[in-house]
Amino acid sequence: MNEDRSAPPVAQAPSDVLGLDLAAFRAELRARGLRAQGLAAEVWVDALKRGAFEPERAGLVPRAAAAWREAFFLRLPVPRALVTEDGELGPTEKALLSLADGAEIEMVRIPMPPGPDGRERTTLCVSSQVGCRMGCAFCETGRGGLVRNLGAGEIVGQVLAARLVFGWNVRKLVFMGMGEPLDNFDALEAALRVLLDSRGPAFSQERITVCTSGLGDGIARLRALGLKRLGLSVSLNAPDDPTRTRLMRINREQPLDALVPALAAYPQRASFVLGVNYCLIPGLNDRPGDAARVAGIAARLGRALVNVIPYNPGRAPIGRAPSEAEVEAFVAALEAEGVPVRRRATKGRSIMAACGQLGSPSP
Ligand code: SF4
Repeated sequence: MNEDRSAPPVAQAPSDVLGLDLAAFRAELRARGLRAQGLAAEVWVDALKRGAFEPERAGLVPRAAAAWREAFFLRLPVPRALVTEDGELGPTEKALLSLADGAEIEMVRIPMPPGPDGRERTTLCVSSQVGCRMGCAFCETGRGGLVRNLGAGEIVGQVLAARLVFGWNVRKLVFMGMGEPLDNFDALEAALRVLLDSRGPAFSQERITVCTSGLGDGIARLRALGLKRLGLSVSLNAPDDPTRTRLMRINREQPLDALVPALAAYPQRASFVLGVNYCLIPGLNDRPGDAARVAGIAARLGRALVNVIPYNPGRAPIGRAPSEAEVEAFVAALEAEGVPVRRRATKGRSIMAACGQLGSPSP
């Protein structure tokens, strides 16, 4: 008997346009054997500019456009709420966004000093995961664990929504929202490629900073991408393993002796300064000798700038917020050790948009 045992063709799931840079978009068109591939650039540029996938606008005939629409989708996250806190430079705003499956993420607009043209400028803090598996003790996001990774398109979608839906003039991007970006590496890499694409969002590498809780293997993978001008910052938060492990579970697997060499190996260049974030919790990581120990670590990192961030107690505080005098004393102690240091203003505390507070209910 002559039986045809070949399986029916498996329908390929549609791809998110926002997760593909132009080269990847072209490659997908080829792989799917779609017609009118010569219009790829026009369609992709238009989609990234307008946040809508409408191949007909580039002149595709209806039949070809319909085939492209079956193969691709573009969905911006839907704004659910926006809370605002006024500050000297302008409002800090936290946007709650919902994704196609109903998952919710947050992004934060942090005002920057205006540009030479007097226009407002924004640093956008984006999320990379729904929840987070790192479980840092001071962080609201980590409390519920990891729900799921974001796709590259869902990361890029935040930037487009910030520009197109909220009208924010996004100059800088920090991957410091919900989630550990290096724990979702493939999506991070694909999103970076889209964001850096000169025909699309066209960010320069210097305007993007990836912030990690300290995944040494992820830092090595990031280095291997060869994006030599990309910013990097790390949450140090304690200068010794016992204290750091208490604050950050990741330190059990990747203690300081693994983390520091991984950071020191990140490519140094004239304009590069590694951000070292230090969430100051009185009595916990500002003990006598802590500043000197931080200085010892900073000296092994090359050019580093320590950002002292006053702790923001959330729903389940592990300490209290430091007083102004305590912050000043720690900053002065670091300066006395010769460490470049900056005191980070706590923007957004009242709307739970400050570091470690995303993922918690807004008042
Ligand atoms: S601080 Fe960052 S890495 Fe740590 S639990 Fe929160 S989101 Fe995750």
